[in-house]
Amino acid sequence: MQLTDIADDLDSTLYTEKQIHDKIAELAARIDADYAGETLLLVGVLKGAVMVMADLARALTLPIEMDWMAVSSYGSGTQSSGVVRILKDLDTDLTGRKVLIVEDIIDSGLTLSWLRANLESRGAASVEICALLRKPKAAKVDVDVRYAGFEIANEFVIGYGLDYGEKYRNLRGIGVLAPHVYGD
Ligand code: 5GP
Ligand code: MG
Ligand code: MG
Repeated sequence: MQLTDIADDLDSTLYTEKQIHDKIAELAARIDADYAGETLLLVGVLKGAVMVMADLARALTLPIEMDWMAVSSYGSGTQSSGVVRILKDLDTDLTGRKVLIVEDIIDSGLTLSWLRANLESRGAASVEICALLRKPKAAKVDVDVRYAGFEIANEFVIGYGLDYGEKYRNLRGIGVLAPHVYGD
């Protein structure tokens, strides 16, 4: 077996581990202030949001609960269509709960806008969104991300939970894939 370093597959690092943690601390401080006195239910969207969830949850001082959903978007090719299938549902009854959806990245925004409506329809008291990264396309869809981390350009990023072919989720920073990875 060949030894490889996944960092060699990066073209450039957009955000270092430190920059990510500083941004998450900033978002957590806002969330702490906005939900003071409440118990918040964090809903992580598998699998990409695992790292954001782990770090955000520990940066918060509020009492929180964590639950997870896995969804898949039907669509042609790489574009999500907004038609979503639930692969793993929540274990938690949302009636009267304050919910914060935790996402890695929002691209078209179609998945999140569907998810928010779905969770609202279950009787949640409120449903807000926290996404670490946002691409420009998201602005075109009417999805209000109350807690947004970094605004990025329209390029494919990996690391810190984000994958390419299920790999690179364990990179500590976020970066752009080197062109040699796409070639075969
Ligand atoms: P959308 O907002 O288009 O409905 O879908 C967002 C989902 O597409 C994200 O949760 C993520 O799984 C995937 N995605 C979108 N842009 C990127 C990207 O730049 N890199 C990676 N690794 N996944 C992305
Ligand atoms: Mg995601
Ligand atoms: Mg993926």
